[in-house]
Amino acid sequence: MNLIKISETVSPAHGIGNNWGETITKVYKCPCGENTITTEIETTTGHKNVCTSIDCLVCAKKYRIANKNSRNWSIEPINK
Ligand SMILES: [Zn+2]
Repeated sequence: MNLIKISETVSPAHGIGNNWGETITKVYKCPCGENTITTEIETTTGHKNVCTSIDCLVCAKKYRIANKNSRNWSIEPINK
């Protein structure tokens, strides 16, 4: 499922010593269109992390994030 990206913001670089990085926040419209899905990508060495969450109560009941800790995450329907 392709989601519509609403915004992408990059934080000022932060870190300690040589371990500098930034936090990239990408916000997408959720499938119902009323709320959003947010991906946060932390690029700091040693703290690399990706987390995607559904910020919509309606869609959270219908969909889940596959590979939520990967840049290759995707949204998929929950099979009942
Ligand atoms: Zn929704």
